Amino acid sequence: MTWFKRQRVEIETSGEKTVRTEGLWVKCEGCRQIIWKKDLEDNLNVCPKCDKHFRIDARTRLAQLLDDQNYEQLDGNLVSIDPLNFVDLKAYSSRLTQAQADTGLNDAVITARGRLNGRDVIVSAMEYSFIGGSMGAVVGESITRGVETALEARLPIIIVSASGGARMMEGVISLMQLAKISAALSRLDDARIPYISVLTDPTTGGVTASFAMLGDLNIAEPGALIGFAGPRVIQDTIRQKLPEGFQRSEFLLEHGMLDAVVPRKELKGYIDRALSFMQVPAPHGS
Ligand SMILES: [Zn+2]
Repeated sequence: MTWFKRQRVEIETSGEKTVRTEGLWVKCEGCRQIIWKKDLEDNLNVCPKCDKHFRIDARTRLAQLLDDQNYEQLDGNLVSIDPLNFVDLKAYSSRLTQAQADTGLNDAVITARGRLNGRDVIVSAMEYSFIGGSMGAVVGESITRGVETALEARLPIIIVSASGGARMMEGVISLMQLAKISAALSRLDDARIPYISVLTDPTTGGVTASFAMLGDLNIAEPGALIGFAGPRVIQDTIRQKLPEGFQRSEFLLEHGMLDAVVPRKELKGYIDRALSFMQVPAPHGS
C-alpha cells in the first residue's frame, strides 16, 4: 500500500515563460499589446506602452547596471553536488544539467565585480530561469563569497533577487544558506559597508525571509511579486480575502516594507546616488 501519491504533473523548473526567445514580436501580459521585440529590448525590457517590467536574465541585469557592460565574474566554477541524491519525478542531477544547458550558467546566480558609474562594486544577480532562481548551496556560497569580497575590499555590494525561495531539492542545506548569508551581511554591517538589496519579480520564500530584506536600502522594481508564502496559503490561513495588489512592490512600499520602488531606467542612477550618500571614507586602522 502506498501512503501517498503525487497527483499533479511534474514540477516545471526550467524555461522562462514571459519573454520568449524566438520570434520578433512579444505580447505584453500587462496591456495585451503586441510589441516589437527590439523596441522592448531597447527599452531595457520594459513595455513602452504600459511600463510593465519584463523579467530579465542575470547577464542582462549586470550589463544594465555595470559600466560598459563590463564585469569580472567571481566564483563561476561552483557547482552543486546534489547532496541528497534527490529525485521527485525527475532526478535533481538531470534538472541541474538541463538548467545549465539552458542558461549557460552553473547555478542560479552570477556574482561579479565591476564599476557602477565609475565606482567599484560587487553585484550578485540571480537568474530566475535556473530552477526558478532557487537558492541552494551554490547560490548561498556565491553570494556569501560576494559579501566577503566586499568586506575585504571595502566595496559596496548590490544583490539583485529574482527567486522562488530556497531550493527544495537540497533540503535543509538550502535553509542553512539563509543563516550563512545573513551572518556574512551582519559582518558587513559591523564594518559599515553599504549593502543595497534590489527586489525584482518575483522575490519570494527564503530569499525574502533573509538577505533580500536585510539591505541598508531595500528597493524594488515596479509591479514585482514580493512575499514569503503564496497568496493562497495566506488566504486559507487567515480566512480573509486579500486586498487588491497584495504582495506587489507598490503595496509593500505603502505598508513600510520597502524603501522605494524604482523603475528600471532609473535604477543605476538611483543606486549611484544612494551609494554617494551612504559611503563614508573608511577610517584608518579599522
Ligand atoms: Zn504593456
